[in-house]
Amino acid sequence: MQQAEMLLQYYAAMHRHFGPSHWWPGETPFEVAVGAVLTQNTAWRNVEKAMGLLRQANALSPLVMHELSLPELEACLLPSGFYRMKAQRLRALLAFFARVAGQASPPNDPSLAFLRHLETETLRPMLLEINGIGPETADCILLYALQRPVFVVDAYTRRMCSRHGVVPPKINYHELQAFFSDVLPQETALFNEYHALIVRTGKEFCAKSKPRCKECPLGGFLERAVE
Ligand code: SF4
Repeated sequence: MQQAEMLLQYYAAMHRHFGPSHWWPGETPFEVAVGAVLTQNTAWRNVEKAMGLLRQANALSPLVMHELSLPELEACLLPSGFYRMKAQRLRALLAFFARVAGQASPPNDPSLAFLRHLETETLRPMLLEINGIGPETADCILLYALQRPVFVVDAYTRRMCSRHGVVPPKINYHELQAFFSDVLPQETALFNEYHALIVRTGKEFCAKSKPRCKECPLGGFLERAVE
């Protein structure tokens, strides 16, 4: 089977099983970007608690969050774990927004429209220069907040693909991303849903130990090699 056909069949099988994912939760692009930082090293339910506190503080807008004192911001982030580090990361993201907008403070624009003029090839390296924003977080912001056709990969993607024998277990982020994005149609909606389905499959079936392959929607593809 050709690689693109195989990946589209994986997608179809997961989509048949789970149905649409409606990712990423968040009312505005800014909320999505904040969620992408807060979800580092924690479960989504903890992110939701922190987002709830930020909402109560009316701080889900770049300028208002920028105006919070550090202790106020940290108090909102407490449920998400690593709250001191995440407060610094959000502040670095806000400082980046201010720089891009050419202002001392980030624009009070939760739609992040001030980033739209930047091509993805320009914006991605800029995001990666921000302290604490790695490839997965940068790509989540590009795909889910800014609707750019950027394929996101993560530990679930690596585990699933290596267990199926289609990539080496130690493949790096960029190579694994290229494994998908070099052959799939460059469609934001497809990339959005594909990553969400992999995460759902990983959580429900493809645990680190004792994967439940017999019940998994991808069970029928095990051991099929790419031609
Ligand atoms: S649980 Fe098994 S079939 Fe499902 S993705 Fe993991 S390795 Fe593949």
